[in-house]
Amino acid sequence: MKILIIGAGLGGLVAGIALRRAGFDADIHEQADRLGEVGAGLTLSRGAQSVFRALGVQDQVAPFACRSSAFPFLHYASARLLAGAPDFGSGEPDDGVADIGRQIHRADLHAVLVAAFEELGPPVRLGHSLAAIDQSADTVHAAFTNGDSAVGKALIGADGVRSVVRGIIAGADSPRFTGQIAYRFLVPAEIARPFMAQGRGAVWLGPRRTFNRYTLRGGAIVNCVGIAATDVWIGDGWSTPASVAEMRADFAGFHPDVLGLIDHATGAIKWGLFDRAPLDAWTHGRVTLLGDAAHAMLPFLGLGAAMAIEDGMILARAFASEGAVAPALARYEAARRPRTALIHAKSIEQGELTQARDPDNYDGAAAPSSDPAIIGYDPVTAGI
Ligand SMILES: Cc1cc2nc3c(=O)[nH]c(=O)nc-3n(C[C@H](O)[C@H](O)[C@H](O)COP(=O)(O)OP(=O)(O)OC[C@H]3O[C@@H](n4cnc5c(N)ncnc54)[C@H](O)[C@@H]3O)c2cc1C
Repeated sequence: MKILIIGAGLGGLVAGIALRRAGFDADIHEQADRLGEVGAGLTLSRGAQSVFRALGVQDQVAPFACRSSAFPFLHYASARLLAGAPDFGSGEPDDGVADIGRQIHRADLHAVLVAAFEELGPPVRLGHSLAAIDQSADTVHAAFTNGDSAVGKALIGADGVRSVVRGIIAGADSPRFTGQIAYRFLVPAEIARPFMAQGRGAVWLGPRRTFNRYTLRGGAIVNCVGIAATDVWIGDGWSTPASVAEMRADFAGFHPDVLGLIDHATGAIKWGLFDRAPLDAWTHGRVTLLGDAAHAMLPFLGLGAAMAIEDGMILARAFASEGAVAPALARYEAARRPRTALIHAKSIEQGELTQARDPDNYDGAAAPSSDPAIIGYDPVTAGI
């Protein structure tokens, strides 16, 4: 059965690999002309790691990931421990044991998934930006802006937060600017070392600002993410440059170790944080949504990428057990819509706690990030 996937992001690639491994003829159409080194660090949940084991890519992912044995929440100015526990590990390479989260550079994970997908069949069809969809009784037809077209039995919109597929099937709602801006930069570990006295990972909580940093690539680099509340956002995409001066202004008053990392930032980027309102339905005929296209969410639980990865696995399981398009899409949506709506809501709740005006009131035990129902889900074994 031919299944058309729109978007070679993390969700589209996991869906493509899992569907091909289950015997389906899955093709991915991607708007970009080339797949490059964009983005920065991501957190991988236990569930995401379980998917990688099931898809046979865990050994390729492992060398790029770092394991978190613990994560401390610190007062932004004094470094006092507010919740959690410090991790004084070296950021050793992944040992393959899914005890807790991992952190990985999006580009490293993306490259592993592209290679795994292309080992199983034709490559990602680059330069294919979806323009229109036409459904008939037993097929779906996709037209691309380059004049090309494709026909399949089902179409999966894995085309991210500004999804064209969502616009076509669910109407013209837009991504919502959430009043938060994220700065991202990397610092080589040897340069970062003087500013890492609190261990390999730490979240610094300040008034309406959060600074999170952790090691990647087996401890070789430190990924830094500063999130600040703001009223306006005029940039677009994933690569708007950010300056040391503006980051210093937004994180004024933070601990010298935070400011030290900011001072050593090169190639910093920033983006506005957008989410999408949960939909009442994802599926229209032979077309459904997956990942950010369906449920883009705030990053405060670090589960946005994990949700797309879970979606991809569950979609393939639903097709494998149902065989036919309509029951497979119904089963997929029934399994995924409630869980992703929950994580979407809990990400807002976590953000309200971590971005509160007074970090001294942060109650880690009551935060969604400690809820086992959120972090314990396994999409490989969960009933669907
Ligand atoms: C370049 C890039 C860098 C990112 N960096 C980070 C990061 O550092 N940290 C972080 O937390 N999150 C990052 N994200 C977002 C993160 O990857 C997603 O939130 C999450 O992984 C969900 O994945 P997804 O597959 O649903 O969407 P995405 O990963 O956003 O992938 C969507 C894909 O669809 C493609 N696409 C869009 N429109 C069309 C169209 N009309 N036709 C064909 N293809 C289309 C896009 O080019 C993209 O490849 C990044 C996303 C992108 C695209």
